[in-house]
Amino acid sequence: MTKFRTLDDLGDLTGKVALVRVDLNLPMQDGAVTDDTRVRASAPTILELAAKGAKVLLLAHFGRPRGERVSTMSVSMTLDAVQAVLGKEVMFVPEIAGPVVEQAVGILRPGDIAMLENTRFWKGEEKNDPELARAIAANGDIYVNDAFSAAHRAHASTEGLAHLLPAYAGRSMEAELKALEAALGNPVRPVAAVVGGAKVSSKLDVLTHLVTQVDHLIIGGGMANTFLAARGVNVGKSLCEHDLAATAEAILDAADGAGCTVHLPYDVVVAKEFAANPPSLRTCNVHEVAADEMILDVGPLAVEALADVLKTCRTLVWNGPLGAFETQPFDAATVALARSAAALTKEGALISVAGGGDTVAALNHAGVAEDFTYISTAGGAFLEWMEGKELPGVKTLEQA
Ligand code: ADP
Ligand code: MG
Repeated sequence: MTKFRTLDDLGDLTGKVALVRVDLNLPMQDGAVTDDTRVRASAPTILELAAKGAKVLLLAHFGRPRGERVSTMSVSMTLDAVQAVLGKEVMFVPEIAGPVVEQAVGILRPGDIAMLENTRFWKGEEKNDPELARAIAANGDIYVNDAFSAAHRAHASTEGLAHLLPAYAGRSMEAELKALEAALGNPVRPVAAVVGGAKVSSKLDVLTHLVTQVDHLIIGGGMANTFLAARGVNVGKSLCEHDLAATAEAILDAADGAGCTVHLPYDVVVAKEFAANPPSLRTCNVHEVAADEMILDVGPLAVEALADVLKTCRTLVWNGPLGAFETQPFDAATVALARSAAALTKEGALISVAGGGDTVAALNHAGVAEDFTYISTAGGAFLEWMEGKELPGVKTLEQA
């Protein structure tokens, strides 16, 4: 594994200023944070640096203010939630560089924490302007990146700063990189990947990369319909990208060439209307879908076969639900396979790593999120990593 420095490489930091990039882009409703998962993810890093005596300056973006000060997008909206999670008072500083930050640093005592303003209020952030990065770095002694979810962006606070100060991966970044390395970087084989979700078009690069990396590719969700249709199956009025038939064929050929076994469903759950428990609900072979039916989930026989595939594997990486899981009973395949994977993980037979917005929701719904080896909440960064891309925020940490 490529090396990067972690908090283990830091000794006493009394009086030193740690600039810490965290993810405070929290979901909000009516001015209140509705989910503090991201804060909880970075709390160990923040508190560990504070315990080492550092003055901790939090850096984060919030929303998309596009280089302007937008009062409704001040990162201070998250201040109460952050203080609650940390159990400590956090000073808010309405700048990210310059004399106001310098003054704040003068007021802070070792172990104190401050939150700097939304990095995206400054145009230089998203442009990765070295001048802005230098101005931010001027108030810090070390840089810690604990926001894997922002590591696919080369911004001043995610990439630029790592060139200017001694740079370290925070605990959450470290855990994420270790889990991802175990899943695809240098995995114990055989490796299975589950790729589901609505569309092939949104995950073309993921599929193309995975067929060269894994031993078994399990395709479900709406995107399976595109593959089935390319194979000449009549998918009725299912969600299907018929124009991507050639692309789907090319992916299947690439899999063949790479020795990757692709698993498509051979039975499916269909209905004439997309609603909860519709009267037209039935399960059938993929070759028996009627013209007025749509495929909304993988069938039970296929799920059983897929669970058997997982039993032969040592590593699993999962992105995308197998069916339209938000609507009953089209969550059945996702829930069943997730439970199989969770049980194998609990036995110590499988390393299971999953990520993706809807995937995390689906695994929570299945009640197995705790049992997976690692669940990434990083969204875009997780997908880019599944595409085999080098993430700029990670690359600079490795070079630092
Ligand atoms: P993630 O956010 O985890 O990357 P996606 O956004 O790619 O996942 O896909 C999730 C969406 O795919 C869900 O909203 C789900 O309802 C939808 N979906 C899955 N299977 C089907 C299907 N057979 N038909 C229509 N939509 C589906
Ligand atoms: Mg999604």
